[in-house]
Amino acid sequence: MDIEQRPAEIVLDQAAGSLVGLAVGDALGGPVEGLTAAEIAGRYGFLMEMVGGGHLGLDPGETTDDTAQTIAIAESLLARRGLDPADIADRFSLWYLLQPKGLGTHTTSVLDRMAGGEDWEISSLKVQAQNPQSAGNGSLMRCAPVALIDHATHAVLIENSRLSSRITHPHASCQWSCAFVNLIIAELLSGSEITHAVDSALAICGHRGDVYFPVLERARNAALSADAGVLNPGGHVLETLECAIWALVHHDSFEQAVSSAVNLGGDADTIGAVTGALAGAAFGFEAIPERWLIHINNWQLLKDLAQELVKIA
Ligand SMILES: [Mg+2]
Repeated sequence: MDIEQRPAEIVLDQAAGSLVGLAVGDALGGPVEGLTAAEIAGRYGFLMEMVGGGHLGLDPGETTDDTAQTIAIAESLLARRGLDPADIADRFSLWYLLQPKGLGTHTTSVLDRMAGGEDWEISSLKVQAQNPQSAGNGSLMRCAPVALIDHATHAVLIENSRLSSRITHPHASCQWSCAFVNLIIAELLSGSEITHAVDSALAICGHRGDVYFPVLERARNAALSADAGVLNPGGHVLETLECAIWALVHHDSFEQAVSSAVNLGGDADTIGAVTGALAGAAFGFEAIPERWLIHINNWQLLKDLAQELVKIA
């Protein structure tokens, strides 16, 4: 169904679900970042509550860099009425100067250069050149706002999702993972069921001559196999993509998808954030458990930003 024919309140609920869901997944996973699944099981059983703690010393419900960068992108998209990478880079630089916790080494190197006054694209490419294989999940975790503003046109959505990645993560794996996840969110907003949305994103990307095929291969495998034992919850973008697609496709509620994602351990906050953005778009804001929501300080801000973005589209 075309999005214009869908009741506005449903689309608004899904859009809000995507950005608030991202923050909820970030906050649920933050305290167990860096633990193995077995360590989480030993400490919490199956983690289903906002516990706080972890290596960053988080408060229960405290979000990390994933949510902070998502807010920066969402606010920039609204202020500039579209994607302006230089403006986003300026916002990232100001935020970086506040010495936020939880940043990865690649992103730190890029933001260090940008905050020192170097052009965003030069910063991003220079850091990539130092380690050409580097393809972390640092742009995938924050890409959802682009899906909300650009969901109506696939080609624009793909271009802008990739561009939003290049601000810090120019590797093709990162660019196409962002495009792929955002296409799923766009399909969900237009009324597709989860498996259909994933299949559509695979088909749309598959028809592009410039697609980076490992992204599609890994996503397809994760959608086909319910076996969590084959997943590696690391910080490589393809590992995170795989975990999030698995969590989305093989669970029946927001709560199950997001809790299953963070209980994989590893880069649990970012796996939680990506899964939360997808599952929030699938099941909607109203499906987010209230006992999680009450711990998220800025959920109202995220809800408002999401709904403004989807109204522009
Ligand atoms: Mg984080």
